[in-house]
Amino acid sequence: MSSVDKQLEDLKATIEDELPSGISVSDVKYEGPELVVYTRDPKDFASDGDLIRKLASKLRKRITVRPDPDVLMDVEEAREKIRDVIPDDAGVTDLDFHADTGEVVIEAEKPGMVIGRHGSTLRDITKAIGWTPEVVRTPPIESSTVSNVRNFLKQEREERRDILERVGRQIHREEMADDQWVRITTLGCCREVGRASFIISTAETRVLVDCGDKPGAEGEVPYLQVPEAAPLNSIDAVVLTHAHLDHSALIPLLFKYGYDGPIYCTEPTRDLMGLLTLDYLDVAAKEGRTPPYDSEMVREAIKHCIPLEYGDVTDIAPDVKLTFHNAGHILGSAVSHFHIGDGLYNVAFSGDIHYEDTRLFNGAVNDFPRVETLVLESTYGGRNDYQTDQADSERNLLDIINDTHEQGGKVVIPAFAVGRSQEIMLVLEEAMRSGKIPRMPVHLDGMIWEATAIHTTYPEYLRDDLRDRIFHDDENPFLAEEFNHIDAGEDERQDVADGDPAIILSTSGMVTGGPIMSWLRHLGPDPDSTLVFVGYQAQGTLGRRIQNGWDEIPMNERGGRGGGRGNTLSLNMDVETVDGFSGHADRQGLENFVKTMNPRPEKVLCVHGDERSVQDLSSALYHDYNMRTFAPKNLETFRFK
Ligand SMILES: [Zn+2]
Repeated sequence: MSSVDKQLEDLKATIEDELPSGISVSDVKYEGPELVVYTRDPKDFASDGDLIRKLASKLRKRITVRPDPDVLMDVEEAREKIRDVIPDDAGVTDLDFHADTGEVVIEAEKPGMVIGRHGSTLRDITKAIGWTPEVVRTPPIESSTVSNVRNFLKQEREERRDILERVGRQIHREEMADDQWVRITTLGCCREVGRASFIISTAETRVLVDCGDKPGAEGEVPYLQVPEAAPLNSIDAVVLTHAHLDHSALIPLLFKYGYDGPIYCTEPTRDLMGLLTLDYLDVAAKEGRTPPYDSEMVREAIKHCIPLEYGDVTDIAPDVKLTFHNAGHILGSAVSHFHIGDGLYNVAFSGDIHYEDTRLFNGAVNDFPRVETLVLESTYGGRNDYQTDQADSERNLLDIINDTHEQGGKVVIPAFAVGRSQEIMLVLEEAMRSGKIPRMPVHLDGMIWEATAIHTTYPEYLRDDLRDRIFHDDENPFLAEEFNHIDAGEDERQDVADGDPAIILSTSGMVTGGPIMSWLRHLGPDPDSTLVFVGYQAQGTLGRRIQNGWDEIPMNERGGRGGGRGNTLSLNMDVETVDGFSGHADRQGLENFVKTMNPRPEKVLCVHGDERSVQDLSSALYHDYNMRTFAPKNLETFRFK
């Protein structure tokens, strides 16, 4: 008998001892990090509200209870009874029964009402029907990404369960190493921005953190060929801090090269990774590049995702526990905390962070039970990288909108689909509601609408007061009637361009292609209209050139970079830049994150910033806070224990 089977047998015996007589245990299994307990008496299990919690704390495991397949109530009968238990106001939109595991997935507009206080309604459901309920939110704005991911995972349910069982046995295998050490190897994003990737190695385990591309330098990928990462199928787990492509783009590539293990990320990160990597393939094809993998690999990646919530302490290997915390950067972004060994060592990866609250998110969490080493992003770590206060930036933006409105023009804002667009939408919605700017249509073009729909599907990940507003349908700011989805292509754009004053938010954020090119064609020649940059414009992008005063823009049919076929467009609209809407902490924010961190880290690795930024930040943290700091290069290995 393998050690895992022996372990499961012992767990079954312990659980039987703990349970009141009359409640049977027919089987116990690992599925990923969870322990699944099958019983012939699901209703009795549910009648004691504290039973599962007590078991979980006794066994120090996450526990799911499921009914034995042969005691399941008939689906039609169960369907009726569920409707009796769940209040009508919950807005149930779908019930999906899975007889193989005895689970029923309830999709509802108000998941909170299906869950009930401390899960009381969920328990009532099990008491009534014996099935194990699972609740998901009906997206308040229809999202093709969310429904595609949900349908795909439904289709792949069986294979997914096999994956989870295999991963579960891996996580809970017997530790073989009798030595103990901890190392981190840098595979990318050191003294550069882009291709984030690290390996944490212990004597027992290897974990890959992030695997991104380098925007503008498509050939430069993380150093996956180093011995620490090879062969890829020997890596225990992949952890994804957030969905931005410089962290996620090459995650699907891992599956092409033989990785077959889990990806730990939050649920919104999973969905956004799907959206962004598919778009990444699309853009590569349009630019005539051969993408490094195809969409099948994106599906593989999604199939292997194990979603975790902020604050869940999760075993991901025999000697590694992972906990995600809000990073304040984009939807689902996570500071990733690793507890290694039994109290041996603790490392936190900041991922990308925003330290102060924004309209969309609470500021990054920097409070941990223990942490010895912090791996810190340094995008704005340079000594002069201070951003304008957001309140000032907002006033500035609203002034520009008012001026343009008065002269009868339109405001065009190039914006990244994920994060900055929604932040600007919130600014505009409030400004119209409070009369700071006149009410006018706000047109959303490119992936912005879809990204917004994903945001509203996961309000739990948004700033708390925004979350509360979304819970109350009539106050959901993203549903404001001014917002219009440009979904009818060029004709609709032409109508908008010919019409009354309006605001247009469009991708791509750095004017490197996408519908923004079309808006420039329509409105670029109009001296009454204004182009407003609200995000970082990288070196070499058309956005940066326009910012620097270019007013003759080469347009080819991709509308994008370089000359090529096509003609030149004279830009007569005003061009303005309003900074201060960044999703990244500025220099002050980074210092504050470290300064107020609890506990104080002994060592800080400054990464994810250009040479000057990481050097500046590293030396400032050393001088001002007396910490051991490093500005590693790619391909370095640090031994911590
Ligand atoms: Zn990012």
